[in-house]
Amino acid sequence: MCGIVGAITSRNVTNILIEGLKRLEYRGYDSAGVALINQENSLQVSKTIGKVQALADLIQESPVSGHLGIAHTRWATHGKPSTTNAHPHCSHEKIALVHNGIIENYKALKAELIEQGYEFLSESDTEVLPHLIYREVEAGKSLFDAVQSIIPKLEGAYGIAVISTDEPDRLVVARSGSPLLIGVGIDENFIASDFLALRQVTDRFMYLEEGDVAEVTAESIRIQNSGEWVEREINQVSAKQADSDKGEFKHYMLKEIYEQPLVIKETLSAYLNENTLL
Ligand code: GLU
Repeated sequence: MCGIVGAITSRNVTNILIEGLKRLEYRGYDSAGVALINQENSLQVSKTIGKVQALADLIQESPVSGHLGIAHTRWATHGKPSTTNAHPHCSHEKIALVHNGIIENYKALKAELIEQGYEFLSESDTEVLPHLIYREVEAGKSLFDAVQSIIPKLEGAYGIAVISTDEPDRLVVARSGSPLLIGVGIDENFIASDFLALRQVTDRFMYLEEGDVAEVTAESIRIQNSGEWVEREINQVSAKQADSDKGEFKHYMLKEIYEQPLVIKETLSAYLNENTLL
């Protein structure tokens, strides 16, 4: 399972997404991609095998921009590491989706969709998801309702983030067996699989629980779980908790080794008063 980042703001989100993916690089991945909805309300997708920097370079050459976007670093489980298999996956240039996890029953879902005329470009299990959502949207559902209605069909683990050109002011996210959270901003909101991806834009986070489906606009967040509206509390992360940079060190492992004395001192300080035990 790899990384997810998303943003809905009044500014261009490209740099927020790239920076977010860079902050998730410590997890390891084989490819990276973004999908944004631009001013003309069309979906722009940029994907590449390799490093997030390669994606940043690609975007530098052929810019993508928009106020709404999702991004992903992939760790291939189904289908080789390749640009085609990289996320986001799309349906009919309308729906774009990123996914962490595995859809165990994707073969049966794929066969059903192919039977109905859906075309698949990749070998990834994930590609069934945007098509399933598209089918519900075409039947008249909102993106939020469409995502909720496909969930009972899915077996496996997922954290997903979805956007649609029909509703270019919102992100829909869902989780089951794979972490996802919402970064709460002022007149802008974000989503990610790990708060570290968003620490440059907010320090307030709402952690989604198993089975949550959330609709996130720049001004609002609403969450359902098993058809009921639910509230999730906002947690403030201190600068210290968020201290994840490599700093002056070349590797995270080196940083951890050098931080050991400080960590031991801080842990013991809870039980020590000067030189005596509390
Ligand atoms: N199973 C998906 C794929 O292979 C997602 C992998 C991931 O979590 O990055 O495309």
